Amino acid sequence: MKFSENAIKVLERRYLSKDEEGNLIETVEGLFRRVANHIAEADKHYDSNSDTKALAEEFFEMMTNLEFMPNSPTLMNAGKPLGQLSACFVLPVPDSMDGIFDAVKNAALIHKSGGGTGFSFSRIRPAGSSVRSTGGVASGPISFMKVFNAATEAVKQGGTRRGANMGILRVDHPNITEFIQCKKDSAEITNFNISVGITEKFMEAVKADTYYDLIDPKTKEVVGQKRAKEVYDLIVDMAWNNGEPGIVFLDRLNRDNVVPSQGEIESTNPCGEQPLLPYESCNLGSINLNAVLDEEEGKFVINYAKLARIVDSAVHFLDNVIDMNKYPLEEIEKTTKSTRKIGLGVMGFADLLFKLGIPYNSEEAIAVAGKIMEFIETRGREASRELAKTRGPFPLFGESIFKDEEPIRNATVTTIAPTGTISIICGASGGVEPLFAISFIRNVMDNDELLEVHDYFRKVAEERGFYSDELMREIAQKGSLAHVEGVPEDVKRVFVTAHDISPEYHIRMQAAFQEFTDNAVSKTVNFPNSATREDVSDVYRLAYELGCKGVTIYRDGSRDLQVLNVGKVK
Ligand code: ADP
Repeated sequence: MKFSENAIKVLERRYLSKDEEGNLIETVEGLFRRVANHIAEADKHYDSNSDTKALAEEFFEMMTNLEFMPNSPTLMNAGKPLGQLSACFVLPVPDSMDGIFDAVKNAALIHKSGGGTGFSFSRIRPAGSSVRSTGGVASGPISFMKVFNAATEAVKQGGTRRGANMGILRVDHPNITEFIQCKKDSAEITNFNISVGITEKFMEAVKADTYYDLIDPKTKEVVGQKRAKEVYDLIVDMAWNNGEPGIVFLDRLNRDNVVPSQGEIESTNPCGEQPLLPYESCNLGSINLNAVLDEEEGKFVINYAKLARIVDSAVHFLDNVIDMNKYPLEEIEKTTKSTRKIGLGVMGFADLLFKLGIPYNSEEAIAVAGKIMEFIETRGREASRELAKTRGPFPLFGESIFKDEEPIRNATVTTIAPTGTISIICGASGGVEPLFAISFIRNVMDNDELLEVHDYFRKVAEERGFYSDELMREIAQKGSLAHVEGVPEDVKRVFVTAHDISPEYHIRMQAAFQEFTDNAVSKTVNFPNSATREDVSDVYRLAYELGCKGVTIYRDGSRDLQVLNVGKVK
């Protein structure tokens, strides 16, 4: 099998079944057999004579050849008693004590199963409003977020995955400025990513420098006004300060709401790539782009026939997951099965560009991104229509925005996930992100250090005769090839990393993928430490103009506890 040492370590630590004493009772092959067999089983629901053995073999090969990987909960739980297979959930938070604490409980159940939850807190009445039943005063959305945060802290997911949340507040909620600043103190609300739900009306008010209305969600009355630019500048300032909040463009999420009759989309999952209706869940899976490259006479070319085959099989796989999933709540099962959303995306995009010899920050790379994603989107929809011929369209198809088109099995087909863990399993770069470092020093036990170099870069460096451990250490130290002597210019141009790439190119790449993605794109726009607030603001505007659904930014060194540090990765 093709798994790297690192991949096997991750699988052993977090994915292979263990007995009560923590001894492994499953092999890597056993894991992928378990997943493939279980997911293939769904075909029997549609045709009791179907050859699920052959299908299971197809799924097994696709995963163990590192062509496609489903999201972590599917790997962890398929064919096991827990059986919860989705990464993404959105839960409603109503403006009542009962409702709020139901949501806390439901989130805890989801976290226990390895899923992440997103919430909009916009319906909660603002702090200071009256509470009729007690005659008291409401404490507002931010105080309740702290309750969700504490509950998440307490539920470590089977000892492996700590829960993750997204918290969203509409920009016209009366408590918006408190929300924007709620993560200023980095010790608070640590289990949440937060995003401001921005409306186009608000963006227009920023542009025109006018005031906009604040609306009490309970009474629907206008309770105040704010100068849009002041609120916008506060968002920019906080994001510049430590990367939070992000922003999401609510009107855009809802323009792509396939079944508007079911209500508004008000939140996404924790990493932002999956907008969902309240009580909806979605399972994700990603194609490893390294697997669709053929090497011909020392040159790499994209094998579109192979990509097509993987897309077909992946769509089949993800649709089956919906049937085999054990849902944490009846309500979630009902909503999820009425739209049958799936999220097929990619990983290894940065690797692919290296191999094609195309710099990430180039027009050519933007074009390649569009071409690959358009292919996946078109082919994925064809595969979903093909499934609809025998399985029927998703149940709400008749009231969806597609109702006059050919029936389709899944309300959405594509999503670009971060692929945090599954990209390690596949030895691929994450999602559509550039590499963070070409080489880095990993601290291992007893203060030992391990030098890790990107596989393909190492190969090129050896072939071109400039490889040395010393040089790789220097690259790790500097975090970029730009100012390293001894690396040929043409190599420097191609092997760019996150900080060599301007924020404009980061966001243009996000937009290029978004154009051909039904759901959204997980992407962080990296800024150098020296970036100004104006730079951040420019990227927000560009994202808005280019049709992105949201923006997450991060300025290097702006958090005390940075996960990935140039020159000192842990
Ligand atoms: P993976 O590589 O493990 O499949 P991703 O990094 O692609 O996962 O993340 C996809 C989604 O999975 C996230 O947006 C989030 O909804 C969910 N997720 C990721 N990490 C966690 C976590 N620690 N706890 C709960 N959910 C998570």
